Amino acid sequence: MSPYVSAPARTKIVVPVLAAIVAVAIFVVDTLTPLDIAVAVLYVAVVLLAVDFAGYTGILAIAAGCAVLTVVSFVSTHDLTPGTGPMLRCFVSLAAIAITALLAARNQLAVAALREQADLLDLTHDTVFVRDRDDVIKYWNRAAEDLYGWSSDEAVGLPAATLLKKSFPAPYPSILEELERDGRWEGEIVHMCRDGRPVTVSSRWALQRDSHGRPAAVLETNTDITAQRVAEDKLDRTRSELAHLSRIATMGELTASIAHEVNQPLAAIVANGEAGLRWLGRDTPDLGETRNSIEAMLRNAHRASDVVRRLRALSAKAAPAHALLDLAAVVEETVQLVERELRVQGVRLSADLPAGLPSVEGDRIQLQQVILNLLLNAIQALSTVPPERRTISVRVQRGARESLGDAIVVTVDDTGAGIAEADLAHLFDAFFTTRSDGMGMGLSISRSIVEVHGGRIEAANRPEGGASFGVCLPIAGGAA
Ligand code: ADP
Repeated sequence: MSPYVSAPARTKIVVPVLAAIVAVAIFVVDTLTPLDIAVAVLYVAVVLLAVDFAGYTGILAIAAGCAVLTVVSFVSTHDLTPGTGPMLRCFVSLAAIAITALLAARNQLAVAALREQADLLDLTHDTVFVRDRDDVIKYWNRAAEDLYGWSSDEAVGLPAATLLKKSFPAPYPSILEELERDGRWEGEIVHMCRDGRPVTVSSRWALQRDSHGRPAAVLETNTDITAQRVAEDKLDRTRSELAHLSRIATMGELTASIAHEVNQPLAAIVANGEAGLRWLGRDTPDLGETRNSIEAMLRNAHRASDVVRRLRALSAKAAPAHALLDLAAVVEETVQLVERELRVQGVRLSADLPAGLPSVEGDRIQLQQVILNLLLNAIQALSTVPPERRTISVRVQRGARESLGDAIVVTVDDTGAGIAEADLAHLFDAFFTTRSDGMGMGLSISRSIVEVHGGRIEAANRPEGGASFGVCLPIAGGAA
């Protein structure tokens, strides 16, 4: 048996039994005791008790039964002389029973009409329930029965918090405060079903007040969004896998540069080592020069390990980690990764990376990936123009942006062929590419990264020729 036996379930059994006992008791007293009073008037109590469990016709039938018992008592204990006291008392009793029955039946009709309207709430797929101010459930619709697994009879009369073991997105007192202040509250809650399964619901509460303005009841409507949340989590995971794969692919494009970046300091270390040995191998070893060689070796070793560290961070498959970032420093580090690519392609890069700009909040690796994509795209776009016109300008500045407010803006401008007007609307679509060896994922992934950071990425053609890409990210904390 369910541990939750609700109050209405008990009432269903108790009240009819009680009504029957009262009717029998009245009949016995009316028939067997020689009282000169209208005992049968007390059948009114039976009719009133019937209101709790019988419908319109049920009440009329019970009243008719009481009238029959009254007449039987009267006939079996009195003579039938018209106009006598007992006969008048019998008529008074019958009239009282009839009037009470009619009023009760009319009331029952009105209740039935209201219930019919309430039954409309059973048609909705949302769960709807009403809690009084002590959190006790007063109404529970069919969708709530289906979703949570408790029938209306089981749920009504129990505290909602105990039944559903809710977990809230904010401290409960602050939710109640908002509900009392605004008369409504909306948010995402996790409810626990009867079988222990958690369901995430989008919940809307509306407060009903009594005539003194005090909170009387809360109407709670919930939409089950569990499946949607699971799908969104899965999408997030897939998106981050894709971002990782695209990062690896981007690094693949940089292989030659990466090998060179590491090789150069290694070659310098070897050269410095050999020089050091020569200084030591002299008849009188020159310790000063040897020291210089060793220091140069250390500098180069640090340079090599810095490159390796940057690359390892970029290729790591770590969950996004948000921190306060100096965007100019992030851009500077990213530019270093493409330095050789710029040299090989004969591209001049000018950078305006002022120190001391307000921080943005974000994941360093993801934002580096965005900048790296923009730089590599610009370098590729420049391959079609004569070498003397190959320039990229990178700027980081503070600027107000519509809908973002105070923001940090990174701009990457190039002097390439620019973007065809028809392509401008599709640049950020997944798989959109105009390159024969392109994947068309770089800008699409960059956009989702920037948007997850609460920012915006945009592309335009520069009036003087070439493309201009801008990444705007909100300043952490809304201000400097
Ligand atoms: P992919 O580089 O693999 O093509 P992206 O998403 O990075 O994928 O870029 C999509 C397309 O946007 C490119 O194929 C190119 O047509 C266009 N594009 C991106 N950056 C520039 C740029 N700086 N100048 C001109 N076109 C560009």
